[in-house]
Amino acid sequence: MPVIQQLTVIGVGLIGGSLARALRRANFCQRVVGCGRSESELNKAVALDVIDHYELDIANAVTNADIVVLAVPLGAMENVLRNMVGHLKPSAVVTDVGSAKESVVLAARRAFGAVPNQFVPGHPIAGTENSGVEASFAELFQQRRVILTPLPETNADATALVRKMWLATGATVDEMSVAQHDAMLAATSHLPHLLAYTLVDTLLQADSSEQIFRFAAGGFRDFTRIASSDPVMWRDICLANREAIVAMLERFRQQLDVVQNAIEQGDGFSLKEMFVRAKSARDRNLRTLQ
Ligand code: NAP
Repeated sequence: MPVIQQLTVIGVGLIGGSLARALRRANFCQRVVGCGRSESELNKAVALDVIDHYELDIANAVTNADIVVLAVPLGAMENVLRNMVGHLKPSAVVTDVGSAKESVVLAARRAFGAVPNQFVPGHPIAGTENSGVEASFAELFQQRRVILTPLPETNADATALVRKMWLATGATVDEMSVAQHDAMLAATSHLPHLLAYTLVDTLLQADSSEQIFRFAAGGFRDFTRIASSDPVMWRDICLANREAIVAMLERFRQQLDVVQNAIEQGDGFSLKEMFVRAKSARDRNLRTLQ
């Protein structure tokens, strides 16, 4: 028997579409209602059997929802939240999938006057460089982590229901504070994306850029794959998690200076020491993920 009657997904793209697919497969909900701006995208979502039907109006989309998932870019969260005020059932639980959490909590506070205790901020640590409902797939969250960042005022039953929802997708669920989440993601996701975009852009400005890209091999391809991610989403993430990202960039800049200095000085010992340290940390922690 399904756990809830209606799931409403606002933003039926890669993440929202994948969540809808996974929850339908797990029989978690009786029906899925989608909502977004583009009717043609929502028609695609119906044709792909990702959602049962759609609404273009946010108020209509959330009226009968047991769980509302916000899966729009960070810059669109506040407007979406504002449009649901006064239209939710008292028991409805609202959650989001945004890649930075402080900005979504602030958006909820601005939209509702105070963060509703039925609102559970969340973030699946899973994704690809592709966007849109056609890129979505039910297995995206399997064996991936989802971070929930409930506030002290968040209702424990609401958090438990959102946890159950993510567990049904095959993910594991962790909880941490908003600040911990934003600092950790600045280091592990936001900085790498910035480095990938910046590297490609730097090479693009070189006189021989065409030649450089023609001869780019596996390492360059691997390192820059994430520079094919959606620019609007990454603009929004940089603006939303500004402080933590700037702090991380500063640390990285200092470390780059150390490496540059070692190369300039011909200090092979320090270079090798650093490479050994980094290789063993990566081998220990990440190799099994490949
Ligand atoms: P996506 O594939 O581009 O999907 C975004 C969806 O939001 C689309 O269905 C789009 O449909 C809708 N949308 C865009 N702007 C909107 C607006 N102003 N108002 C209402 N709806 C809007 O993006 P995604 O990768 O799923 O990312 C969605 C969220 O997940 C973001 O907050 C992102 O931070 C987070 N996230 C992404 C990843 C990742 O790797 N991609 C991983 C974890 C979390 P319409 O254009 O039809 O409105």
